[in-house]
Amino acid sequence: MSIKENIQQVRSNIAAAAVAAGRRPEEITLVGASKMNDAAACREAIADGIDALGENRVQEMTEKLAENAYEGAPLHFIGHLQRNKVNKVVGKVALIQSVGSLELLEEIEKTAARMDLRQDILLEVNVGREEAKSGFFPEDVFAGAQAALACPHVRVRGLMTIPPADSDRDTNMRYFREVQALYVDINAKLFHNELTCLSMGMSGDYEDAVRCGATMVRVGTAIFGARHYNV
Ligand SMILES: *Cc1c(COP(=O)(O)O)cnc(C)c1O
Repeated sequence: MSIKENIQQVRSNIAAAAVAAGRRPEEITLVGASKMNDAAACREAIADGIDALGENRVQEMTEKLAENAYEGAPLHFIGHLQRNKVNKVVGKVALIQSVGSLELLEEIEKTAARMDLRQDILLEVNVGREEAKSGFFPEDVFAGAQAALACPHVRVRGLMTIPPADSDRDTNMRYFREVQALYVDINAKLFHNELTCLSMGMSGDYEDAVRCGATMVRVGTAIFGARHYNV
């Protein structure tokens, strides 16, 4: 299957899940998670109509930016972001999806202020409260959003989450619904319902995420094929 056929298949699966849930397919943004895929693959996905591309390693993104891999589509940063690499991401991407701590938020604010721009972000929710994962615990998201509202060079667009990888399907959907409820709540209470992004769902669970209210899915393998880690 080509990237083009894969995108068509994923789009049609998204549309079916959306319609079955009483939603409009156009409400859902398809982000191609292009890590470990080269600039040519990124360009092909853009030519085939992907809505955005997401990278999760700063070094790889920087190299592919130099090759104009993302021309024609918005670029998102979706991976764990270390504070000392913030200056390589702020202003270079349309959206940083993975802001999971007050320290990172503060660093992004400082960097965006220095660059005299406003950076769009999502707050990442560590919905499974996993030790090894970054992200705000559910009970800390509200405070995180309040802190972000006090940052003039940051604009929150919504929430992002990755449930624990070993969850069974029911548990996974329960996590999605929990984050959706959180999103609706902070959107109403803090953002005048102006948030538009609820980013959840990957190759294995994007249809379930759409059923649970995702407005943005991040799909890698189902579009680009299996990644080959040569380590
Ligand atoms: C790689 C990645 C994805 C996509 O994963 P697939 O299972 O290949 O679809 C989504 N989100 C993040 C943050 C990723 O790093």
